Parts: sequence; structure tokens; C-alpha cells
Amino acid sequence: MPKAFLIDTTRCTACRGCQVACKEWKNLPAVPTKQTGTHQNPPDLNPFNLKLVRFSEHMVDNKVAWYFFPDQCRHCLEAPCKQASSVEGAIIQDAATGAVIYTEKTAQEDFDVIRGACPYDIPRQNPQTKQIVKCDMCIDRVKANLLPMCVKTCAMGAMNFGERADMLKLAAERLAVVKKTAPKARLLNPDDVAVIFLVADEPKKYHEFAVAEGPGAMTRKQVLAGAFAPFRRLARVMQG
Ligand code: SF4
Ligand code: SF4
Ligand code: SF4
Repeated sequence: MPKAFLIDTTRCTACRGCQVACKEWKNLPAVPTKQTGTHQNPPDLNPFNLKLVRFSEHMVDNKVAWYFFPDQCRHCLEAPCKQASSVEGAIIQDAATGAVIYTEKTAQEDFDVIRGACPYDIPRQNPQTKQIVKCDMCIDRVKANLLPMCVKTCAMGAMNFGERADMLKLAAERLAVVKKTAPKARLLNPDDVAVIFLVADEPKKYHEFAVAEGPGAMTRKQVLAGAFAPFRRLARVMQG
């Protein structure tokens, strides 16, 4: 059965427990960071931070409001990054869970093409190994019937995980509740992704790449990346 997350941003307090838990479970090293005038730290996703709680500040009814967005790979149902791949076996989709997994072979991919294909700007490249990396749904834990580490850690009920049908039901229930006080509340690309965000306001106020808009939720650049992938694959085969 396909799995899914519901990330209910209305319940997120930006404790960053999920961000730290991801890093710890994946045994990822600390990286130098810098103060950029926001509590968001590090400033962006990087090869050693696969989950990032994004912060943004807005004036709502003449009061300062913080918007929190625990960003990660959406595990797209028909992943544009996979469609753009030109290396056999580099980007695979687990049939049982739907998790989109990057293997060591991503080191042979064209990083700009893979990153450019992602509507949510998720993939990052390890500068040493050249491998492209992102959240893998904690597939090792999920296969052992454990929750993804970020979900396990969240004490606020913002991170939820389970069967896709159950998560869609929970998402609809929570949306109905949140809409009573926040009429702009919506789910982000629920038909296209396995990581469904619930936001209370305009998605772009949370993060520039929070939502994929437009037909099929893919930009022209992403469509072209997918269209040219078979030719890049053929060119690699001919190069030996
Ligand atoms: Fe938000 Fe939960 Fe992550 Fe804390 S652990 S930042 S409440 S999603
Ligand atoms: Fe690929 Fe981006 Fe979708 Fe993740 S969110 S599966 S990296 S296209
Ligand atoms: Fe990190 Fe695992 Fe959560 Fe993905 S599912 S963000 S790898 S803890």
C-alpha cells in the first residue's frame, strides 16, 4: 500500500526536532552556518540537511506572524526528477511504499538537470562524492514497520505518516477544521505527492517553492527535462 505524510503546518511550533532527528538518524555531519537575520538555520537545504524547518515573518492584522514550513522531498507520485534521470538505476521508486530513492549512481547524473526538474527545489549534491541526495522517506525504518524519524520525533502532531488513504482522510478533516478560522487554508498538490502539506495562508508566504502550480504541476523546464532524458540516456550508452 502506498504511504503518505500529512504535514500540518498549523500545528508546527518550529521546535526543529524533526530537522535534528533526520540529521541524527542519517548520521549527517554538522556544517558551518551563518546568521542571515532569521531563525531559519541552516539558511537552506544542503547535502547534510535533508529536512529544513523554514521560517518566514509576515504582518497579519497588524501583528507579526511567524510561518513555519518543515520542508523535505514530496515523494511525487510521478516524480519529475525520475523522469529527467538519464542514468539507469540512479533514481528509483519503491513499489510498495512509493518512496522515491536516490542511489549511488546519481553521482553520474547531470545535477543541474535533476535539481531543475524538481518543482520543489529539493535535490542537493554532495561536493565530495558528487552523489545527489534528498529525503528517502526513512525507507529502512518504514520497511521495519517504524515511523520515519521526523514523524516519530514531532510531539505536536504536525508530522503524520501512514497509509495514503488514511492520510488523505486526515488531511480533509484537518482542512475543514482549519478553514473555519483561516479561509485561505489549503492542501498543497495532494493529488501529485506523497508528502501533503496543509497551510493556512498563501503557499508562497511559507516558501517560494512550497507548491507546484500549473497544468500537471510541472513547469515547461521540468517537462523538457523529462522529454530529453531518453536522448541523454542514449548518448551515455553510446559513449560507453
Ligand atoms: Fe514542527 Fe514538529 Fe518539526 Fe517541531 S518536530 S519543527 S513541531 S514539524
Ligand atoms: Fe523528486 Fe523533487 Fe518530487 Fe522529491 S519532490 S520526488 S526530489 S521531483
Ligand atoms: Fe529525514 Fe527520514 Fe524525515 Fe526524510 S523521512 S525528512 S530522511 S527523517
